[in-house]
Amino acid sequence: AKGQGRNRYQFYSEDLTYAAAERLRLEHDLRGALSRDEIFPLYQPQIELATGRVIGVEALMRWNRAGQGLISPASFIPVAEDSGLILALGEYILRKACLQARQWHEHQGFQGTIAVNVSAVQFRQNDFTDVVLRVLSETGFPPECLELEVTESVVMQGLESVVQKMGILESHGIKLAIDDFGTGYSSLSYLRQFAIDRLKIDQSFVRDLPGDADAQAIIRAIVAMGRSLGLRVMAEGVETEAQARFLQDIECTESQGYLYARPMKSNDFEAWLKTRN
Ligand code: C2E
Ligand code: CA
Ligand code: CA
Ligand code: CA
Repeated sequence: AKGQGRNRYQFYSEDLTYAAAERLRLEHDLRGALSRDEIFPLYQPQIELATGRVIGVEALMRWNRAGQGLISPASFIPVAEDSGLILALGEYILRKACLQARQWHEHQGFQGTIAVNVSAVQFRQNDFTDVVLRVLSETGFPPECLELEVTESVVMQGLESVVQKMGILESHGIKLAIDDFGTGYSSLSYLRQFAIDRLKIDQSFVRDLPGDADAQAIIRAIVAMGRSLGLRVMAEGVETEAQARFLQDIECTESQGYLYARPMKSNDFEAWLKTRN
């Protein structure tokens, strides 16, 4: 039994070594990804349920890793956060998205917001608001059309500086959404303290609609709470008509998901927009 245990241990440690080497390679490649022009955003429309109107677009980062094709952020954002690379990557996507959305405002008849995901690591930086305001002024994009999506972990990390940063963003008209709402900390008191505009109901709840009674109850509660606090509530990961119908019935106002469109390259989004108009 002892021998067996040791074999298992060796196995395990080889796996670890392999995983560690993989991670190092990933970080190394990611370090050069921006300068090789391998990072870009895809865009996914956000829809007003009652009218079907396109009210916004979310920018979602992709990495075209040499020899490996498109990589989803789930597999490289954690490495980007640990290594600090997320600061450059995040600023790059923010600038790219603002430039693109400005062009859509001017030439495609698009009047919605552009939503950009912000990592807790970015938000924590002392100069975070400076970076955002600089990008806005450099790109000439209207601040009130920018929405930053942060997770609950951001709002829970050190109240004073968070309140201060959110206040600065709000004073410039920048919108703030809580992403993956319902999966993080259970304290809801922050919803009153912070300048939040929108809750995005996590897709794990939406996935179980319309059949699952628990998912129904949770989503009803979030929608009701959002309404009474004067927040907009968006469901994400909406894939079926039945899900959209349920959401509309309970007066959830906004929706995003494969039902309407997958995340798309900018020119595909433009073509999609034309077919909607
Ligand atoms: P998220 O912000 O919650 O984004 C929603 C994810 O669900 C996206 O995955 C999107 O492609 C996917 N999705 C959209 N509609 C549907 C649907 O109907 N069904 C299903 N099953 N999935 C749907 P993606 O693009 O792989 O992004 C994963 C996560 O990576 C994002 O989750 C976000 O947390 C993070 N991320 C993406 N872009 C950025 C970025 O620029 N900066 C940072 N810090 N994080 C990002
Ligand atoms: Ca998001
Ligand atoms: Ca989400
Ligand atoms: Ca606000």
